[in-house]
Amino acid sequence: MTKPKISSDWMAGCAGCHMSLLDIDERIVQVAELADLRATPITDLKEPDASGVDVGILEGGINNTANEEVAHRMRKRSKILVALGDCAVFGGVPALRNFCGIQEALQRAYIDAESVDESGKIPSDPELATMTKVRALSEVVPVDVFVPGCPPDADVIFYVLAELAQGRKPELKDELLHWH
Ligand code: SF4
Repeated sequence: MTKPKISSDWMAGCAGCHMSLLDIDERIVQVAELADLRATPITDLKEPDASGVDVGILEGGINNTANEEVAHRMRKRSKILVALGDCAVFGGVPALRNFCGIQEALQRAYIDAESVDESGKIPSDPELATMTKVRALSEVVPVDVFVPGCPPDADVIFYVLAELAQGRKPELKDELLHWH
């Protein structure tokens, strides 16, 4: 039987959700027996398969056009799309800037704060923030499975991966969800 393919990628956030994925430790062997892990934190592949995957996992909010492209690409290539972590589920930490506006957030980060950048200028890198608001993944593309948490527990990620690898839709019961 052909194993389902799983790929992951990230957008705006801290990559902590992918670190939590690594925290499933040796249980990754069980997942690898059930699924073909393509571009994930445990492989060297950085790009999700152009040929498509059964499960695409995205971490992070949508902060700029590059993030938006990642979201559309993964949606197009995945039969099932998973929003991993609070940033993907509802905008999370990056979306805190929505409360004060992009210019004020950049001013606070790059001009007012002492520790971030000593140039005294707001960088012009378009990757930084090209959208007035950070959006959740589901505001840009349809999402099939939501996995909240900042980051989600490794136990939750293992459960979700194992269920998806066996062709089942995971049901996240209250006892599996923890907020730190
Ligand atoms: Fe980082 Fe939390 Fe966002 Fe995951 S949900 S990317 S751990 S800030």
